[in-house]
Amino acid sequence: MVTIVKKFGGTSVGDVTRIRNAAKLVSDHIKKTNDKVTVVVSAMAGETNKLIALAKSCVSEPTLRELDVLVSTGEQVTIALMAMALNELGHSAKSFTAQQAHIATDRNFCKAQIQDIDSLNLKAAIDCGIIPVVAGFQGIDADGDITTLGRGGSDITAVAIAAALKADACYIYTDVKGVYSTDPRVSSNARLLPQVCHEEMLELASLGAKVLHPRSVYFAMAYKIPLCVLSTFEPDAGMTWIVKEEELMEKPIVTGITHRTDEAKISVHKLPAESVALSTLFQAMAEENIY
Ligand code: ADP
Ligand code: ASP
Ligand code: MG
Repeated sequence: MVTIVKKFGGTSVGDVTRIRNAAKLVSDHIKKTNDKVTVVVSAMAGETNKLIALAKSCVSEPTLRELDVLVSTGEQVTIALMAMALNELGHSAKSFTAQQAHIATDRNFCKAQIQDIDSLNLKAAIDCGIIPVVAGFQGIDADGDITTLGRGGSDITAVAIAAALKADACYIYTDVKGVYSTDPRVSSNARLLPQVCHEEMLELASLGAKVLHPRSVYFAMAYKIPLCVLSTFEPDAGMTWIVKEEELMEKPIVTGITHRTDEAKISVHKLPAESVALSTLFQAMAEENIY
């Protein structure tokens, strides 16, 4: 019996039509193959940003514990809608929050790391023919407090669940056809890469290719989970498999180029020799939150 995880990102579940479309994609797969599918979802596109803005409109510095309680609700909306959509298609689906799926993290609110997933609940559901629909991005710490894994963290949830279920593969459905040589929304020359090795994907992801969260690549590598990135809207139009280096068909010298829009280089010339000059400069930058 094949066990797989399918994760849908924010744009893929951006409105109810898209949620129904993603549910149909899961349903068609199950009807064709009889695979055991677990679904992981992000919040609907823009919802996490809205929740963060809401907190900041209320107070200047939201307490991180409360911010996690707030932002984790985005995914809770989507798991319920996705489970309803799957049920309407004739399946038996059930939503799982991080607490119900037993996703244990450390206590670092807003940037927690998954420590363990006790897959007992998920496996029991799967064994009963239920499709678990799990909230991405959220976890539970040792005190039972809600945590979140950092922006883009649903990718981590998906691969970590695939590892806990010893799944045969994890499919990350997104709004592009896979991993490209550079961001396809920035360059029309970007080339879809059929395969990328873990090490290169880790580097691309860490340096700005947000198509995969770097820690999800780490989990895939550490737990040997075949990881695939493809489009929710054109699932048959191509895909990228993240593979071991020795499995690469081609060994290019340069695989891809990334960019970040939140970094700038400033050169300061003729700085006085006294050390106070440097501290004055860095103090002024810190006051403007420039790091
Ligand atoms: P999701 O909401 O599905 O998690 P993200 O917005 O987090 O999707 O990631 C997908 C986006 O990553 C794409 O829309 C694309 O603009 C961006 N991206 C940046 N670099 C790359 C790359 N090298 N290959 C593919 N997509 C990339
Ligand atoms: N909803 C979260 C975010 O916007 C997590 C995710 O989408 O992966 O960052
Ligand atoms: Mg993402």
